Amino acid sequence: MQAVVALVGRPNVGKSTLFNRLTRSRDALVADIPGLTRDRKYGLGRIGSGNYLVIDTGGLGEEVDAIDLLMSGQSRQAMREATHVLFLMDGRAGVTAGDEHLAQELRTLGKPVTLVINKSDIANRDLALAEAARLGLGAPVFISAQQGSGVEALIDDIVPAN
Ligand code: GDP
Ligand code: MG
Repeated sequence: MQAVVALVGRPNVGKSTLFNRLTRSRDALVADIPGLTRDRKYGLGRIGSGNYLVIDTGGLGEEVDAIDLLMSGQSRQAMREATHVLFLMDGRAGVTAGDEHLAQELRTLGKPVTLVINKSDIANRDLALAEAARLGLGAPVFISAQQGSGVEALIDDIVPAN
């Protein structure tokens, strides 16, 4: 089965930066995969030993940091299409009410979800861990989408080799 990884989280946490890194090795273009709608961004990638399809969310209205956005059809649809959800948070910023709502929804999704603390290059690890614990999504994984640290290990953990 094709691994489908959805990137969700509020604006500015680094979803698109991670998307670009995950799809760098392949043409990030999947316009013609049947059954996928066009309002999200899809890309194919291979890092480490497995192939995956990755879904970025956000874009239109991304400047609005609101529960509305997190709960928007776009995030929901991506969560539905995914085989694995990566919930990104910004290691430097706190957890918001919106994050908690989304986390609550993810806890009942019935799919594997990994909490990812991004911007580890500039984060205070202890503070980030304390914030992350509020989300109830288990032990987080630290990455820097911008610098690349932690990304291959993360993908190796969640995408089967093929
Ligand atoms: P999105 O709104 O969730 O798609 O977030 P973006 O990918 O657009 O990133 C928002 C901002 O955070 C941009 O200025 C990125 O350059 C920056 N950013 C993303 N990932 C990292 C990271 O790992 N470290 C640092 N220091 N900045 C990052
Ligand atoms: Mg984005």
